[in-house]
Formats: sequence, C-alpha cells, structure tokens
Amino acid sequence: MRAPVGDKPSLLSHDDLEGLFHELGHALHVSLTRAPYATLSGYNVEWDYVETPSQALEEWAWQPQVLDAISSLYTDPRQKLPVELRTRMIEARDMDAGMTYSRMLMISSEDMLFHTSHGPVNVTSISDAMYEDLMGIRPITGGHEPATIGHFMGGYDAGYYSYLWSKVYALNVYARFERDGLTNTTTGRDFRHWILEPGNMQDGDVLLRGFLGKEPGMDVFYERLHITLPVK
Ligand SMILES: [Zn+2]
Repeated sequence: MRAPVGDKPSLLSHDDLEGLFHELGHALHVSLTRAPYATLSGYNVEWDYVETPSQALEEWAWQPQVLDAISSLYTDPRQKLPVELRTRMIEARDMDAGMTYSRMLMISSEDMLFHTSHGPVNVTSISDAMYEDLMGIRPITGGHEPATIGHFMGGYDAGYYSYLWSKVYALNVYARFERDGLTNTTTGRDFRHWILEPGNMQDGDVLLRGFLGKEPGMDVFYERLHITLPVK
C-alpha cells in the first residue's frame, strides 16, 4: 500500500487486496474459534492446515463479482474496474506459476533435507543441485539462495511444505463455494462450523472431510494450475 501523496489518498493495489483477504482468513480463524484452550484455538493447528482458511479466502480476490462489488475509481465510485482490464488481470494471474510452484517445491524439499541430515551440511551445494534438478536451469553462480529463506530456521523448520499442502486444502474448500455459490449462507455456515470454529480440537483432515463431505483431492490443485496429468 502506498502512502498518501498530496491530496491523493492511500489506495490498495490488487496485491494488497489479495493480502487483505489472506489475513482476513487468519483473523476469522482466530476470532471465530470456539476451542476452549488458547493453545488449541484459532490457527494453532497442524502446519498442513494453518494456511488453509487464509489461502481459501485469497480466491475471493480473483472473482469478477467480488472485484466488481468492492472496486471503483476513488474519485467516482460509480466507475467500476473496466471489464476488459479485470479479465486481463485474472488471465495474467498464472503467469510464472510454473516458476513459483517449482521454487516452492524446491524450498520444501531442501527444508526437509536440511532438517533430517546428520552432521555438517553444505546448504549452498545442496540447494544449487536441487535448483538445477527442479527448476531446469542453473542457479546464478555465487548465489547462496538458502541464506535468503528465513523459513528454514524461523519456526517453520521442515514445515515449509505446509504452504503447498494448505494450498491443496484451500482449493478444495474453495471448490465447494464455487459449486454452491460464493454467497451461499449454508456453505458459509459450514465453513465457519467445520473449518474456522474448532481450532485444533479435531484433526484438520476430520474437519476437511466434514466440510467437503468427502476426502480432499489433488485434482482441484492441478486444475487450478491447468496441469493435466498423464496418469491418474
Ligand atoms: Zn498466512
């Protein structure tokens, strides 16, 4: 978000909006909790599940009807985001997704390798080899990518993979809203009851099954990335 300049107010970029929906997911998880113990409440849940409500909520920031309802020209609120611009923006969402997700996969794999190794570990050479393997290109010579990733030692230790797993769960959650309607109150209440209220009083997979009425699957994740798998 940019600071206001002169008489131009501070405005949210679309990135900010997506971030706002994301953090709203965490805020709802914490504020709607009905868990009786603080340590088991809100987002004090399994790592695989921490980012599920927040990443599910991000999807709202990409829906035409949501953007239409909440965006407008600040000098004239009757003027909405032009449809053509909105469409192009949504279409460009997946630009570089291959790079983004390959990198997440790389960091997740390195993270687990570092934390399960014994003795001294040369993190740079492991990272360089994995970069070439998973990204398909050589890393920049002299770079030390692991030094740029705070998650390795910042409390997530060996848990970075959970962003990706949470994304899979989040897209499963969103798929039900997509099927039932974004403003469907029954689905919204179920989201509150099954996903937001229990905290860690039940395992995440039990809660997900309760909300979805079935096991979560990988297919919505692949579909979201337009990946067609040769084998099921
Ligand atoms: Zn988050």
